[in-house]
Amino acid sequence: MIEQLMQLNDGQSVIFTRSNIRRTFPDFDETDISGLYRSGSDLVVLRNDGSQQSLPADQIIKTFKDYTSRLPDFFSYLGPNYRGPSIWRNNCYVILKGWNYQKQGTTNLINSKAQNRWVDKFVCLDSEEKLIALLNQFDLGYLISPDGKSLGRTDFSIGSDTDEEEESTPEPQPFCSCGSYKRQQSVLSEIQQEIPGYQPTCKHMTWFKKYRELLVKRSQLIESCRGHVASNATAWYYAPPNVGEQHGKFAIIYTKQGQMAPLNKWRYYRPEETFNQHDAWGLFDSMIEKGFVPFPSTALPSIAHAFKNV
Ligand SMILES: [Zn+2]
Repeated sequence: MIEQLMQLNDGQSVIFTRSNIRRTFPDFDETDISGLYRSGSDLVVLRNDGSQQSLPADQIIKTFKDYTSRLPDFFSYLGPNYRGPSIWRNNCYVILKGWNYQKQGTTNLINSKAQNRWVDKFVCLDSEEKLIALLNQFDLGYLISPDGKSLGRTDFSIGSDTDEEEESTPEPQPFCSCGSYKRQQSVLSEIQQEIPGYQPTCKHMTWFKKYRELLVKRSQLIESCRGHVASNATAWYYAPPNVGEQHGKFAIIYTKQGQMAPLNKWRYYRPEETFNQHDAWGLFDSMIEKGFVPFPSTALPSIAHAFKNV
């Protein structure tokens, strides 16, 4: 039997990790494993005592795809003052880790302070290597290009004088400087043998696209408002989790009297319910769908103190 077992190649090793097996089969016993092998449509787990366990490979592949492209909560990649990704150059952006929103008091972490110090200065660095090294040094975040890097202004190309067919410029490839994306890229052809047509992705890519989609929908809504001032508006507030807790507090007030309305024209949205960071994406989508433009409460001076008791 053992002869038919195939050692995992580098691409399969990225897919069939012990963590992905456990995510697929929560009862999976991770101890005493001597090796993982592919055989037909199965992943075969060989134990130290010589016993074997066969698991359907396609279910673990689905977990790998779902987990790799999962959507982190809204606050996971916001910089200081709820700042979203900032454009760098060559169609790349800097996406910051949400250090400020992890727990109460994490604004004092060295990482958060380094973000504050650097957030407006990334554009001063013109080398991609230097920028990525800086981001890694303080674990600030990642350099990401969801639509692929553009060629630099200095890439001078006038095509060919001969009749030979011009070499076509390769399609821009998306990019993220995180470890997961780099790993997938380095063994892509082997991953594609297992998952035909697979393209690398990561949670930063998913978050970025969701954030961009939200910004687009929000600005379309503002465009449609008379004088570009929202009469239906919401203001939100977020308190990160206390130490030892998982969930922060996400609270919303709303008005139909205009975004500049005084505080007494605003009402709490479902005051009897407690929302947290995992509710934010869904609530934003739903507000915009109902025609309410969301604002961070810090952006509206007239109601900035509304949440001091939350
Ligand atoms: Zn990434």
